[in-house]
Amino acid sequence: MISVHGLTKVFPGGVRALDSLDLEIGEGEFFALLGPSGCGKTTLLRTIAGLETPTSGSVVIGGTDVTALPPGRRDVAMVFQDYALFPHMDVTDNIAYPLRIRKVPRARRRARAAEVADRLSLTELLGRRPGQLSGGQQQRVALARAIACHPRAFLFDEPLSNLDARLRLEARTFLKRLQDELGVTTVFVTHDQGEALALAHRIAVMDAGRVAQVGTPAEVFHRPATTFVASFIGSTPMNLLPGRMGDGALHVAGAVLPVPGDPPGGEAGRGAGDGGDGGEIVYGVRPEYTDLSTTRRDDGFAGEVAVLENLGTATLVTLEGPGHLVQAVVPEGREPALGTTAWAVPRPGRALLYRDD
Ligand code: ADP
Ligand code: MG
Repeated sequence: MISVHGLTKVFPGGVRALDSLDLEIGEGEFFALLGPSGCGKTTLLRTIAGLETPTSGSVVIGGTDVTALPPGRRDVAMVFQDYALFPHMDVTDNIAYPLRIRKVPRARRRARAAEVADRLSLTELLGRRPGQLSGGQQQRVALARAIACHPRAFLFDEPLSNLDARLRLEARTFLKRLQDELGVTTVFVTHDQGEALALAHRIAVMDAGRVAQVGTPAEVFHRPATTFVASFIGSTPMNLLPGRMGDGALHVAGAVLPVPGDPPGGEAGRGAGDGGDGGEIVYGVRPEYTDLSTTRRDDGFAGEVAVLENLGTATLVTLEGPGHLVQAVVPEGREPALGTTAWAVPRPGRALLYRDD
């Protein structure tokens, strides 16, 4: 439905925001662009929308090369982080604005605005101006405006980031449901890994203008292709410890560990898994897949209990060992005392090996 080929954007001054990027987004897909601030997410979205001209490469929408077409002829609707509502127009006129641009007659515009407003529970607010709406209501008006003209795709640039935490979770569920029902191809930019995992059918993790990995939420969570993806995905960062392979075992932070086979959670992961036959490696295991023992374990990382963080139904325990920190998530009530020694034991089958950096 949307594909980009060799997309490069170098801004005047030399910043390479996109670096020969390729991506294929399927019809009806909810696709997230995830990455840290400055990695090029907004530039990619704006280039798909036609608001930015690529230095090289092409954008294809619905089989048509649109690289040279202006935004108005691409038939996509963008929702901006700040919603970009018109302050002097009421909700009806804001929602109907794209239809006015398309010269749809006034009566039909208003009817469509009312229909979409009903869909998004905005009917009571149709006569108000944006200044008289809460952040969540403004966000829904921006969504309604995007929906109003039946675009082929929605392009969302961090549409939830101006909402407070509670509202953001509600809006996220609402958006997921809406996309399910409308079935319209959606590209969703976020720097929030939790949001991407919760919403998307597939995620492209971006790093410095490139795609580090594309996969389903399960694939990028369980089979991160690089240590960059591994450290970016997950509500607690993955433990990544340097080590070496030798004598058919891994020697990592004082522990002797079995060489992991293929971990569970998806076939399409790349780069991780088999570490080969010797040499330096990086050993990765999620805190959620790391257990704690208060008695010595040769297959565990020893350390002093340095921090206990309450996660609600569990506790994140940080062990400080000689030259390393390791984290483990333990069920509530099972945390060891601060200052005591414990061993963090990776669960068999849950470890990942990296050689890339
Ligand atoms: P993200 O949305 O992932 O935070 P952006 O796409 O906004 O990243 O920016 C990618 C890079 O391009 C950053 O280094 C940013 O400073 C730079 N950049 C973005 N827009 C411009 C611009 N108009 N002129 C120059 N540099 C820009
Ligand atoms: Mg951005």
